[in-house]
Order: sequence, then C-alpha cells, then structure tokens
Amino acid sequence: MRKLLLLKYASEIFLKGLNKGKFEKKLRDNIKNVLGKTKYDFVVDEGRWFIGCDDMDEAIAKLKKVFGIAEICIVDEVEPDMDSIKEQCLKSIQQNSGGTFKVVTKRANKKFPLNSMEVSREVGAHILKNTENLTVDVRKPDFFVNVEIRDSAYVYSKRIKAIGGMPYGTNGSTMLMLSGGIDSPVAGYMMARRGVRLNCVYFHSHPYTSERAKEKVKELARILKGYTGSINLYVAPFTEIQMQIIKNCREDELTIIMRRFMMRIACKLAEKYNVDSVTTGESVGQVASQTMEGLIVSNDVADRPVFRPLIAMDKVDIMDEARKIGTYETSILPYEDCCTIFVPKHPKTKPRVSEIRKAESVLDIESLVEEAVKNTELFN
Ligand code: ATP
Ligand code: MG
Repeated sequence: MRKLLLLKYASEIFLKGLNKGKFEKKLRDNIKNVLGKTKYDFVVDEGRWFIGCDDMDEAIAKLKKVFGIAEICIVDEVEPDMDSIKEQCLKSIQQNSGGTFKVVTKRANKKFPLNSMEVSREVGAHILKNTENLTVDVRKPDFFVNVEIRDSAYVYSKRIKAIGGMPYGTNGSTMLMLSGGIDSPVAGYMMARRGVRLNCVYFHSHPYTSERAKEKVKELARILKGYTGSINLYVAPFTEIQMQIIKNCREDELTIIMRRFMMRIACKLAEKYNVDSVTTGESVGQVASQTMEGLIVSNDVADRPVFRPLIAMDKVDIMDEARKIGTYETSILPYEDCCTIFVPKHPKTKPRVSEIRKAESVLDIESLVEEAVKNTELFN
C-alpha cells in the first residue's frame, strides 16, 4: 500500500502518567514546526504516530533533530491479512544479503484471527522457505522483522536511531551563557535535549572583541536553533565592567571578579525575561577559573539555580559532542573572546568568597550591572 515513517518516542515520555498528554502535544507541535513547509500526513493508529510524505529522506533528516523522538522506522503499511503481511515481510528482509533474523509481532487489533506468536511463526517459516542464506536466531539476531497489527498492518525492519531526550519546551527555561568557545554550545544543547527552553546571553567587549566575534556567537545560536526553533540571544555590553575591574582590582583576581559580573547579569536578565535558571559551559578543573573554589565563588552571586551540564566531562569528549551537534567548526574560528583579552598571567585558583567580595566592593556593582542590563540588545 504505502510507505510511512513510524515515530517512536523516548520511553521516559511513557512514564509521565497524567502529564503524558502534555508532552505528546508539545512533541507534536515541535514536529509540525520542524517539518515546516514539507507536505505530510500525520496518522495516529491506536497511540502510534506515523508520518506519510513524498520526500522521506528530507523528512527523516528533519525529524532526526527533534528532541523526544528516539527512533524512526520506515514502515510499509499493508492490508491486515496474512498473505499481504508475509509477502511484505519477505520483501523487506530481502534487502539484507544474509544473516540471522527474528520476527517480532505486536497485535493491538485483537480481532485478528492469529495471535502474535502464530503470526511470527508463520512469517518466519515463509521467509525461510523463500530465501537461502537467512536463519532464525531468537536471542541475538542480526536484524528484526517487526509486524504490528492495528487497523492496518505495518511491517518494518529498518530502524533509524534518532536524537532522544525530552520534547523541547517541557522542562522550564534557562539563560545559557554562550561564548564563542567549544563548551557552552554543547552545554546549551544538552539542556535543550532535556526539554529546557534556551535563551542565550553573550558578553561583548566592543571594541576589544570584534564584530566578527559577535557574528560567530550568532552563528552558534543559529546552529542551536536547528534543534529548538527560535532562541532569544541577548548581547550584553561588557567593556565598561572590564575596564573598571582592570583599573581597580588586583590582576590575579580579574577573571573571577569578571565571572561574578557575568553571573549577576545573566541572573538579572533571567529575572527580567522570566527565565528559571542559568547554564554555563564550565567543567571542573578545565581552566584556572573553573576550580571548585572558582565555581563556588561565582555561584555566590547567583540568585537562581546554575546548571553546568559539562561539569564532569573531559575536554576531548566535549569536543566530540561539539562535532556531532555541528558547532565545532564554528567554535574553533579564531576570533578573540572577552576572557582571552584580559587574561592575568597567574589567576587565583583558590579564591575565597569573603576575599573576593571585599576586593570587588570598591566597584559600584549595582549600577554597573544595571547599566549593562539596560543596554542589552536582543537578537532572534
Ligand atoms: P567556552 O568554550 O564555552 O567558551 P571556556 O572553556 O572558554 O568555555 P571560560 O572562558 O572560562 O571557559 O568560560 C566558562 C563559561 O563561561 C563558558 O562556557 C560560558 O558559559 C561562559 N562565558 C565565558 N565567556 C563568555 C562570554 N563572553 N559570553 C557569555 N558567556 C561566557
Ligand atoms: Mg570561552
């Protein structure tokens, strides 16, 4: 009859009890958004979601980026009778040149005359009779032939692993501190994959950081949008703050004081735009400012939860992830960022909250933060 895509969503969504409907609705809206102008039919058959469209490859490429979809199966819909099922199963398995297989049947339609075991057995026998180099292995087969009997019958043996996670927009929101580096886009992606809505803030030190550095951050936000749909990117001016810190504070404390300002502004923007939390790309021990003490001192000024999804990851693994999600090539473009311009030679690796609070008390913290928030620009 026709080819369809069967979408299997992450098993965690099944665990949501009464909230399941909310998650499903969000997922469905996200699918609709990502498919955009692609012409398609959405078919629901007893809780199973199918998509029918002309250009399967294009649809698969798009659906592979939708958080919450765990697997996409290319299925053939056939008449719910044994002859059609057997014939289609044979056809789909003939795409494989040999090996072991197992037939798995789900029978949701209880009016169907055979039970699941009987269907699997008959289909298996039919395949064995009509092929030469295939054998059955029920424990560890090379591939499965799946039969689902609902209003129609569906046959598939091709499964494509999709992105998994939770539907975007189902788990609150975060203000991602997005620099032009390798780490923060990965951190944002990981939060988004758990359903957390992203907003981004970039601290820009014009003219010490160039327009190109800002464009690079916009490009990273654009790549993340490929997974999430629209994202607000806030660009906060940071030059005046850095200048004040450099003029008034000790060199070895510059970085940590600067990081506290970033945290304060991120929290203020979060408050202003109703965002629940803050996310950074920090990983413990990666650089001088990311020691346990450094993280504690920057948390000291946060008034909402700060998430650091990369906290326990090695740099090489973060880089692999960046390549997978498509941000790596942009991240390694060599434009300066505001932290690399004013790097002290020997930054403090064990700052203490009390000593840093005192060190920065010479600055007019409140008005510096207020001014930066007031002059923040929005891009989306
Ligand atoms: P990244 O690769 O994400 O830039 P990094 O290894 O360079 O991280 P730092 O420069 O110490 O580490 O920054 C730590 C985190 O602070 C970043 O992951 C990011 O979340 C945030 N951050 C740093 N600089 C900026 C900036 N200019 N704008 C926004 N966030 C920033
Ligand atoms: Mg950086």
